Amino acid sequence: MLRVAFLKLTSCSGCLNQALVALLASEDLLSKYEVVYFTELGTISSDNYDLVLVEGSVSNTKQERELEEFRARSKTLVALGTCAVQGGVQSLRIGEDIEEVKKTVYPFPEKIDVYSEPKPVSDIVKVDFFIQGCPVKGEAVVNLLRKYAIGGLPLILPESVCSECKRKGLTCVMVSQGIPCMGPITVSGCGALCPSFQRGCYGCYGLRTWDINVFKLEKFIDKVNKLGAPGSMIQTALRGYGYKSFKYVKGR
Ligand code: SF4
Ligand code: SF4
Ligand code: SF4
Repeated sequence: MLRVAFLKLTSCSGCLNQALVALLASEDLLSKYEVVYFTELGTISSDNYDLVLVEGSVSNTKQERELEEFRARSKTLVALGTCAVQGGVQSLRIGEDIEEVKKTVYPFPEKIDVYSEPKPVSDIVKVDFFIQGCPVKGEAVVNLLRKYAIGGLPLILPESVCSECKRKGLTCVMVSQGIPCMGPITVSGCGALCPSFQRGCYGCYGLRTWDINVFKLEKFIDKVNKLGAPGSMIQTALRGYGYKSFKYVKGR
């Protein structure tokens, strides 16, 4: 049996729930994997892992140490979800006064130990594979677990949500209806969920960082603004899901 650990950092548990439900619903995987650690349950049967799935961004030095310990005890480490891969919704606090943010959210802000900027998992440890999404799709996790069980990791398709629109034969909501859509700069994987319901994508899978530079991003933002996108839409999408990577895209 392969030993799998589910580690939760700063996150909402949405990705871990997707992963756990997908694993429990796949009979073929239950005979191959044993869940040996789950953050809410603690250590179940082992503290050595074949595979660690990490949800969430890193908020403080305690989490950094914890992540390093899991990395040291695992053969393969996977970042699960937009928080783990790019910082996620916690990135909305970037640029704000962290002390004011803490006072607004918590009754005892002095007890809250967080960096002013969340860190993606890859800022701290080596990441062998990542699955984006907010939350991740259960089938993407099953695909990973099946491939890993036979030795290897899935291929990553470097494409945007637009590619999924095309494959599904959807009419582009931006071209046909002038609806602002973040699909062209957003990582694929959701099956073009929002355009399937005649809605623009708001970027929850995170920014397509591998081939987008600041020049292209600014051109795209100009285009979407001309369609009447509320100014906050782009900012919120970039800050809420990909701002961390936005700051590090090539050329910046
Ligand atoms: S990526 Fe989204 S669903 Fe997953 S932990 Fe973060 S906020 Fe929750
Ligand atoms: S609807 Fe959005 S994601 Fe789909 S093709 Fe148009 S711009 Fe791309
Ligand atoms: S916001 Fe974009 S990436 Fe997220 S589910 Fe909708 S279409 Fe997919």
